[in-house]
Amino acid sequence: MMASNFLEAPSSQPSQLQLSTAAFFEDGNLTIIAQGQTFQVHQAVVSRHSTILRDLLRGPGNGYQSHQVIHIQCSGEDVGHYLNAIYDSSDEITVMPVLNMGRLLGDVCLYERAANKLIACVPTSAIAWTYMPFYKESDPSFFIDLYNCARDYDIMTILPQVLYAIGSTCSAESLAFGIPRSPTSTAYLPATAQLACLRGKEGLCRSQALLTFAWLHHRNIPAEHCRNRTDCCRARKTLSRVIFAGALPTIQALDNWAPEWTNKLCNRCELAAKNLHEAGREAVWEKLPSFFGLRPWNELKNEPDIAITEDLLRGGIISIGEIER
Ligand SMILES: [Zn+2]
Repeated sequence: MMASNFLEAPSSQPSQLQLSTAAFFEDGNLTIIAQGQTFQVHQAVVSRHSTILRDLLRGPGNGYQSHQVIHIQCSGEDVGHYLNAIYDSSDEITVMPVLNMGRLLGDVCLYERAANKLIACVPTSAIAWTYMPFYKESDPSFFIDLYNCARDYDIMTILPQVLYAIGSTCSAESLAFGIPRSPTSTAYLPATAQLACLRGKEGLCRSQALLTFAWLHHRNIPAEHCRNRTDCCRARKTLSRVIFAGALPTIQALDNWAPEWTNKLCNRCELAAKNLHEAGREAVWEKLPSFFGLRPWNELKNEPDIAITEDLLRGGIISIGEIER
C-alpha cells in the first residue's frame, strides 16, 4: 500500500526549512510544512479543495483562525505540485503527485483531474480499442507500472484493459519474475494480479474461440448467397490454421479484423465474417472485467479510498502545528 510512502519521520528541523518557491504568498494565512519545505497559502483557497484541510482548519464557529500551521509528513515536492495545481488554473498538472495528494487530502476534484489524465492513455470502450490498440506499441513494464498505479490510487476503471494488455504481452515466467524497465530496474506485478492474469488468459483464450473468431466455425458462413462455397470453406480452414498457429495460444480476443484476412473469402462471406468478428469483440469487451475476477464495468469506479486518510489523521501524519518561524 502506498501509505508507507507517507509514514516517514519529519526530515528537517525548523531551522533547516526551505521556503518554497512553488506556492508562497506573502499574504497567505496558512503555512504548510512538508519534509523540510514550507509553503504559505490561503486557508479559504485550500479549504475549497480539500475536505480534510477544511475540517482541520475550521474552528468550532466554522471560521478560520488568523494564521495556522499544518504539518504533512509526506514529500514536499508532492505538496508543491498539489498546491500549484490548486492555484494554477491551466490544464497542466503533474499527475502522480496530484493523485497522491488529492487522495490524501480528500480533494476529489483534483484527484479526478489527475485520474482522467492517466485514464486518457487507455481505451475505455470496444470502439476506442479499435482505434487505439495501445498494448501493441508499449513496453510490458509500462503496463505493470500502470496497473500498480491504478491499484494504489483506486483507479479501477482501467484495470481490465491493463490486465488484458499484461496478459497478452507477458509470459507466465515474466509475470513471476518481473519485466526489466532498464538494466537496473524491474517492474513487478503483485502476486494477486499475477493470478488474475493467468486466470484471465485462460478465459480469454476460450472466449476468443467462441466469440471473436466465431466466424471460423459459425453456421452463417458460407453465407446464404456465397459465390463459391468450396473456395470459401477451404479459405476459412486455412485462416483458422493461420490465426491459431503456434504451440501456445495467444490472446487476440480484442484484435481488430486484420488486413491480411481480407479477400480470402468471397465478399459476402467476408462481410458476414467481419460482422461476427466485431460482435464477438464487443461481447468480449462487455465481459472483460470478469476474466480477471473484477466487478462488472458499471460497478468499477474511480474513487479515492478515504479510509487511508482517516488512518493518517489518527496517526498524526497530517496535523495542526505551531508557527515555527
Ligand atoms: Zn463465400
